[in-house]
Amino acid sequence: SEERSLNFIELIIEEDLKNGLEKDKLRFRFPPEPNGYLHIGHASSICLNFGLGLRYNAPVNLRFDDTNPVKEEQEYVDAIKRDVEWLGFEWDKECYASDYFQQLYDWAVDLIKRDLAYVDSQSSEAMAQQKGTPTQPGTNSPYRNRTVQENLELFEQMKNGEAAEGSHVLRAKIDMASPNMLMRDPLMYRVLHKSHHRTGSDWHIYPMYDWAHGESDYIEQVSHSFCTLEFAMHRELYEWFVDKIYTEGTLPPKQREFARRNLSHTIVSKRKLLQLVQEGHVTGWDDPRMPTISGLRRRGYTPMSIRNFADTIGIAKRTNLIDVSLLEFCVREDLNKTAPRVMAVLDPVKLVIDNYPEVEEEWLDAENNPEDEAAGQRKVPFSKELYIEREDFKEEANRKFFRLSIGKEVRLKNAYIIKGESVVKDENGTITEIHCTYDADSRSGSGTEASMRKVKGTLHWVSVKHAIEAEVRVYDRLFTHENPDGNKEIDFMSYINPDSLNVIKGYMEPSLKDAKVGENYQFQRLGYYCVDKDSTAENIVFNKTVGLRDTWAK
Ligand code: ATP
Ligand code: MG
Ligand code: MG
Repeated sequence: SEERSLNFIELIIEEDLKNGLEKDKLRFRFPPEPNGYLHIGHASSICLNFGLGLRYNAPVNLRFDDTNPVKEEQEYVDAIKRDVEWLGFEWDKECYASDYFQQLYDWAVDLIKRDLAYVDSQSSEAMAQQKGTPTQPGTNSPYRNRTVQENLELFEQMKNGEAAEGSHVLRAKIDMASPNMLMRDPLMYRVLHKSHHRTGSDWHIYPMYDWAHGESDYIEQVSHSFCTLEFAMHRELYEWFVDKIYTEGTLPPKQREFARRNLSHTIVSKRKLLQLVQEGHVTGWDDPRMPTISGLRRRGYTPMSIRNFADTIGIAKRTNLIDVSLLEFCVREDLNKTAPRVMAVLDPVKLVIDNYPEVEEEWLDAENNPEDEAAGQRKVPFSKELYIEREDFKEEANRKFFRLSIGKEVRLKNAYIIKGESVVKDENGTITEIHCTYDADSRSGSGTEASMRKVKGTLHWVSVKHAIEAEVRVYDRLFTHENPDGNKEIDFMSYINPDSLNVIKGYMEPSLKDAKVGENYQFQRLGYYCVDKDSTAENIVFNKTVGLRDTWAK
C-alpha cells in the first residue's frame, strides 16, 4: 500500500532517478537457477522484483540462471514458470543465461586478447593453496604469464571438447593480492562434458556464476540487479566484469543486496529440499508440508496470502528468521474473506434426537460466507441422527464448558436448540451415542420467539444418513526445531518431525461431494481445508491448510 514508507531498495532507485537515471531505463529481473522448485524465500525475491516493476511501471524479466548443466532440468524451468504465474506476476521477457553462451564466449576471447584473462592448468588444490587468506596475499599461478596466443589456442581447445574435465580453467587476471579474495583471479570457465537441458552437447565449457550473472544483466539492460547478502562481496567482481565489456551509451547494471528470508520450522534451500524429496521424507516437491510455492498451493495457500506475507515482512538488510505463524496468519486472513463455510465432523460421535420424527428430514438454509453476502446460501440436510464432534460433549460440565452436556442446551448451527438427555456406552465406557431432545419451535431463521432464544454454545454437525465420508490429511510442522538449518554442527535431518502427517476419516455435509481440486473451504469451528489433487469421486481428499486460531504451542 502507498501508506508505508519506502524500503531501502526503493530509496536506492529513487536516488538514482534523482541523479538523472531516466525512468524508462528501469528494468528488473528475477533470476532463479532451475535446479529445484521455488520456495517461500524465493517468493520474497519475486514480490520484490515484480513489485518494483508494478510500482515503477518497468519491465521485469524472468531469467533462468542455467549455467550448471549438472543440476538443472526442464522440469524445474516449467515448475518455476507455473509458480511465478500462479503468484499473479507477468514477466516481460523469458530469458536464459544459456542463450548468452556465445556472447559470453566472445567476450571471454576479447578479455584474453586484452591480457585480462588466462588459462590455468593447475589442479584445483594447487589453485586453492595459492588463494591466500583474507589477511595474506595469494601467489600468482605459474601459468599466469602465458602468451595471448597460447591462451587463445587452449581456450578454443577447451571449447571444442579437446580438454579433459579439470585440466584447464579460464581465469580473470585481476590481482592475487586483492583484499577481496574473490578478486584473486576468479574462475570464468570450467570444462564440463555434460549435456545441458537447452544447449545439448554444444558446449564443453560452462561459465561461472560471477562471469555469467552480471553480463546477463548487462545484455538485458537490467538497471538494478537485486540479490541476497551473501553476494555482497561479489559486487566488486560484478562491477569489474561489467566494466570490461561496457560500451558507451549503454547502461551498466547495479547490483545491490538484501537479506535472505528464512522461515521457522522449515528449510529454505533447494538443495536440502531436494534431499527431503529424494530420501522420501515427503511425497514430492509439492508435498503440502513443503515450504515450496507448489507445496503451499497444494496445502491451500492462496497467491494473495503469499504476496501479503512477503509485503508484511518487507525487505531487510539483516538476515533473520520469520515465524511461520505469520505466514499462517496471512492465509487465515485471506481465506476468512473468501472460503465458503461448510460443516464437517472429524472426530464423530452419534447424536440421536429422541423426539424428532423417525423418517423425517429437512433441508435447512445455511449461509455460505458471513463475510461475503454475495456468496449466498445453500441447503443442508437435517435428520434424527447426526454426528457431532466427540469433544463437543461432556456428561458433566463445569461452568466454563459451553458445549453439550446432560441437562444443558446448545444450538445446532443453522438448526435447532437441543438439550442433552442421556448417553449409551460400550463395555469400555466409551460413549457410542448421545441422546437429546430438541425444541421444535427453535429453528434458526424461523422468526419464532423460541428461535431467538439465546443459548451459550453453537455446535456444527452433519446428518448421519446424508453425510459423505472423506479422507482428511492433517499436517504438523515438518521440523521439530524452530531453526533446523541454524547450526552447522547439527544435521538438519535430525530435526525432522516423524509425525508430520496424520490421516483421518471425516464426515461432511453432502454439498461437498462436488468439491473440485484446489477449492478452499472453512470447516466451521475447525479450520481451513482444501481439496487435494489425489481426490477422486470415490475418495475425496482434503488437506488441512491451517486452523482457525493459532494453536501452535511454542
Ligand atoms: P537456494 O539455496 O534455495 O538454491 P538460491 O539463492 O541459490 O537459493 P536462486 O535460484 O539462485 O536460489 O534464487 C533466485 C533468486 O531468489 C535470487 O536472486 C536469490 O537471491 C533469491 N532468493 C533465494 N532464496 C531466497 C530467500 N530465502 N530469501 C530471499 N531471496 C531469496
Ligand atoms: Mg543455489
Ligand atoms: Mg543462486
